[in-house]
Amino acid sequence: MDFRTLVDFESYLKKLPFVDAHAHLHMRHFENDWDEVAERSKNLKFILNVSTSESDLEPALEMAKWFDNAYVALGIHPHDSKDVSSAYLKKLAQKCKSTDKVVAIGEIGLDLFRNISPPDVQKKVFVEQLMLANELELPVILHIRDAYNEVYDIIKSVGPIKKGGIVHAFSGDTIWAKRFVKEGFSIGIGGPVTYPKNEMLRQVVKIIGVKNIVTETDSPYLPPQQFRGKRNEPSYVVYVTMTIAEILGENLEDIAEEIYHNTLEIFGLRT
Ligand SMILES: [Zn+2]
Repeated sequence: MDFRTLVDFESYLKKLPFVDAHAHLHMRHFENDWDEVAERSKNLKFILNVSTSESDLEPALEMAKWFDNAYVALGIHPHDSKDVSSAYLKKLAQKCKSTDKVVAIGEIGLDLFRNISPPDVQKKVFVEQLMLANELELPVILHIRDAYNEVYDIIKSVGPIKKGGIVHAFSGDTIWAKRFVKEGFSIGIGGPVTYPKNEMLRQVVKIIGVKNIVTETDSPYLPPQQFRGKRNEPSYVVYVTMTIAEILGENLEDIAEEIYHNTLEIFGLRT
C-alpha cells in the first residue's frame, strides 16, 4: 500500500489504529473549521491533547471531552514557566486528579534555544512538575530544545521518573535517543521525520526501533512535508507512521499496531 498515491487517506484512518501522542487541539488555529478537524480526528485510535500554560489547563481538558479517543496531558511548557502563579502547582495537581482523562504531566522541560523564560525559572518549574509526576505516578511529556544535557542531568538528579514518558518532537542524535530510552522514555516522532534534510531523525528511528517509538503531530505545528507551511492536524499522523514503516522496511499495518500498543503501555491504558 502506498499512501502517497491515495488522495483520500481518511478511509484508512478508520482501518488502522493510528496514534497522535501530541496535539494542541484547543488552540485558536482550529476555530474556523473545527467541525471538520474534529470529524477526521475521531478516526484516530488515540489522541493526547497537551496543555502548555496555566491558563490553558482547563481548555485542554475541556477539549478532550469531545472525543472518546482523546486523553490529556496537563503541565506548564518552558516558555510559559515565567507566567505561573504561586498556586500553579496545587492547581495542576488538583486538575490532574479531577478526571481519569489526564494520563500525563506535560508538556514540560527546557527550551534553551528561545529562552522565552529565564533558564533558572524554566528549571525550577520543570523540577517541580517532575516531582509532581512521580507523586501522582504519571508519565511526563518532555519538551527539550537545545537542552538535552541539562534535561538529562535534571532527570538523573530528581531520580528515576517512575512512569517514564515521551521525549516529544525528538531532535537529538542516536546517542541521546538511547540515553533517554534507558531512562524509561519513548521517543516522539512527528512531521520532521518526513523532511528531506532530516537524515539524523530517520537514523534515530532505524537505531531505536519501533518498540521505543510513539507517533505524534504537535498540531497545529510541525506539519509533515506534504503540508509544510500549513496547519497540522491529528489525521496527518498517517504520513508520519507511513514514513516510519518505510524507514524500518515494515508493513504499515504492523507498525501502526505496535505503536498503538506502545502508547497504551506508556499511559497505563492496557486493558
Ligand atoms: Zn507541543
